[in-house]
Amino acid sequence: GKQPAAAHVVLLASPGAGHVLPMAELARGVVAHGEFTATLVPLDDLPADARIETRILTVVDRALPHLRDLLISLLASSSPSGGGGVAAFVPDVFGAWALQVAAELGVPGYVFRTTNLMALLTLLHVPELDRTTTCEFRDLPEPIRLPGYLLADGFIVNTFDAMEHETIAAFNELSHKGVYPPAYAVGPFVRTCSSGGEKAQHGCLRWLDEQPDGSVLYVCFGSGGTLSTEQTAELAAGLEASGQRFLWVVRFPSDKDRSASFFGTAGHGHGHGDSPLGYLPEGFAERTRCIGLAVAEWAPQVEILSHRAVGGFVSHCGWNSTLEAVAAGVPMLAWPLYAEQRVNAVMLAERVGLVLLPRGKDDGIVTREEVAAAVTELVAGEKGAAAREKARELREAAAKAWGPDGTSRKAFEAVASEWKMAAAARSRGAS
Ligand code: UDP
Repeated sequence: GKQPAAAHVVLLASPGAGHVLPMAELARGVVAHGEFTATLVPLDDLPADARIETRILTVVDRALPHLRDLLISLLASSSPSGGGGVAAFVPDVFGAWALQVAAELGVPGYVFRTTNLMALLTLLHVPELDRTTTCEFRDLPEPIRLPGYLLADGFIVNTFDAMEHETIAAFNELSHKGVYPPAYAVGPFVRTCSSGGEKAQHGCLRWLDEQPDGSVLYVCFGSGGTLSTEQTAELAAGLEASGQRFLWVVRFPSDKDRSASFFGTAGHGHGHGDSPLGYLPEGFAERTRCIGLAVAEWAPQVEILSHRAVGGFVSHCGWNSTLEAVAAGVPMLAWPLYAEQRVNAVMLAERVGLVLLPRGKDDGIVTREEVAAAVTELVAGEKGAAAREKARELREAAAKAWGPDGTSRKAFEAVASEWKMAAAARSRGAS
């Protein structure tokens, strides 16, 4: 007879590459599992200069009625034999309040964390901190509404055992006690190199082809990170002084906000010939021509990290970037800027043993001397060698996580069976 239609997993991604990309990978994983159909709902039609907070909140809010319609129509497609229907609703962290819609309709809701478990634990601890402290919350890890979490049936976290073994154990203990919903460490979900052939070859990859193995530092602060004008100049001077080879994705500097490029550059009239490269020190490109390449705005990061010439990554520690570096076995120099990146940097330094960049006091400027010393350490120093060794080990562990009997594969099987049971129970109830 005809196979019953697979149940849907409806995923809601809020705006931002750091949310949409891993969510798309998760959707791919859900489908690859073989028992579900995935519907990914990313919405982003607001003006490019809308603030990121406004965009995220508006989009999620406006999505709610449509999401309700979608879930209702998918639920109506479920057959008494248990086919079709909706197995689960999976929003990312900013879409967590859409969980109310799923809860109303009796669909299990699982929040997908595009960052690590440590950051989640920190976040879940905030209400407790709020109760027990009187100081200002200047450094709230993420601008989100906490109560949404209470509606979650579980968290699907883009991390894996070798990365956060103790945190996973501690979290599990708290979930067993009923303090938090269970967390499933199913990562790393990272993009793989696009096999686009010649047409997709970015110039910087051809440049990397000409560099010696493990010699190039890749410098990039994610899809939204920016440096001040002064810090951009200081980083440039530090790279130049270090004499190390580098590939730097340069953003327009901002003196207002460390995540200012999220504001969009359209129509802002930056000046300097409207390229971020125009903000680099006078003569920088010429003087570093033999060792460095500066690329404006965006580069194919996954391809770069897996290129044999790349030996280190100066990173803002966004979680996707971190996992991509881990999957490629590239050691990192942590340069956290905003959101939960500081938590990530501390965790990477303490638990994973990657090199941490010394910070100027009170978040001041990292000087050219500090930059030069740190990047030289990463490429040629003892700490760098230790970090490289650790990065290799983690790459192996990441590859095993989804192998037969891998921890992430098992965690995913566990959540998938929860979904199947819930879908079956609902269709029995409906018939
Ligand atoms: N990215 C890229 N090229 C760039 C900058 C970023 O491909 O020039 C990708 C990167 O590979 C990662 C994502 O954008 O998948 C950034 O996510 P992350 O969590 O690291 O940082 P966020 O952008 O959320 O701060």
